[in-house]
Amino acid sequence: MRKQDEFLELSEKFAFDREHRSRMHVNVHKYEAAFVSAKKQFANLELARERAAYFKWKVIENLDKYLIEFESNVIRKGGKVLWADDAKGALTEITTIINKHNAKLVVKGKSMITEEIGLNAHLRANGVEVSETDLGEYIVDAANEQPYHMVTPAMHKTKLEITELLNAKIGTSIEADPEDIAADVAAEVRGKFLKATIGITGANFLIADSGMVGVTENEGNARLCLSMPQVHIVVAGIEKVIPSINDAELFFSLLGTYGTGQKITTYNSLVGPRVADDMDGPKEFYVVLVDNGRSSILVQHEQRQALGCIRCGACLNVCPVFQNIGGHAYGSTNTGPIGSVWAQHQNGVEEFKHLSFASPICGKCTDVCPVKIDIHNHLLRNRKDSVQQGEVKNSEKLMWYSWKKIMLSRKNMNKGVSIKGFMLKSFFKSAWGERRQFPVLADKSFNQLWRERFGQ
Ligand code: SF4
Repeated sequence: MRKQDEFLELSEKFAFDREHRSRMHVNVHKYEAAFVSAKKQFANLELARERAAYFKWKVIENLDKYLIEFESNVIRKGGKVLWADDAKGALTEITTIINKHNAKLVVKGKSMITEEIGLNAHLRANGVEVSETDLGEYIVDAANEQPYHMVTPAMHKTKLEITELLNAKIGTSIEADPEDIAADVAAEVRGKFLKATIGITGANFLIADSGMVGVTENEGNARLCLSMPQVHIVVAGIEKVIPSINDAELFFSLLGTYGTGQKITTYNSLVGPRVADDMDGPKEFYVVLVDNGRSSILVQHEQRQALGCIRCGACLNVCPVFQNIGGHAYGSTNTGPIGSVWAQHQNGVEEFKHLSFASPICGKCTDVCPVKIDIHNHLLRNRKDSVQQGEVKNSEKLMWYSWKKIMLSRKNMNKGVSIKGFMLKSFFKSAWGERRQFPVLADKSFNQLWRERFGQ
């Protein structure tokens, strides 16, 4: 099935599922309440956002320089940096490290990029056991699903759905409360930490001037992934760089506030290769830098700002489309408004152009973005790109041509009133769907009524 058809089918299913919508709204409202309180910690939030936007702009405009700086600092401290053009390249590099250590078990921290490259499926197909350690990721992995939301992967599941899944996997009681669920999963994954040779995490930030990797989380499991196994592999998109260790504080607090409505997330780790005086940490430290379509965004001067995303998920939470259809309808790893901007460049205009059209362009995403990405205008630019690349049906072109002709002439508009019902039903009925009441149109236009009343 084409991605667009899949999107329409799933959107309809989720948008009209009252139970799903109420679950989404409960979660979003909890987030909103926490966010309002957390953002009060900033004496000048606008200034903090402007600074963060500036740092990300500086990095994206000079990405080659900052990546090389990051790489040379990692190598100087004894780590290794591997570059991957695409998902296949990244999987090959990771598999080579795993085979070198003859590892049979890998523990993983929460990471969207490993979802993007399909790491779990690849490793399992090659006989390697993979254990997710983040609670939300553990749940969606048990359900064989993709994360629903970039920050809260299992936000769509009820407690009963979770206990049923975990009952089958690790024997959790069906009546377990949230604390018991978390304790059961923690007990299960702690055993894996003791046995695993390799820990894999993503990176929230790659810090150029220190060659360190910033990882932020609430459970402490990523910290165990990066400290207990002998080998640590960081998998990160090339856009994750920030210039300096001095900027880390700003980004950690913005991410905590916009991501989960906390002043700061519970565990914030800055890690790098183990150096002489370190008492613990992995013996080998690798960073796999993944492009996977990011360069396609970078080459477009007007669109490259979208690479500044720090994956806080705030634009998803405020988006009326995401709130109603959830994360799985998008068919891409990154979802919501920023996912729609990225998907078209990463995965192809033909397959993913519809996501940029599935937006009211209300601008709420842009208003909330902590790094001031002009998201709704990037969606409009995506639309322009797909039109310019000829990804539009002839019938739609004809429709817009006629619409322009009519709208630019008062005479034609008045004539059009009599046929607008016909036009609407002919062109919009199927898009309007069966479940919404079709608009009832006035018999006369405002202009006609005015002339009748005032005669001019
Ligand atoms: S685009 Fe902005 S608001 Fe959306 S996830 Fe990225 S940083 Fe957060």
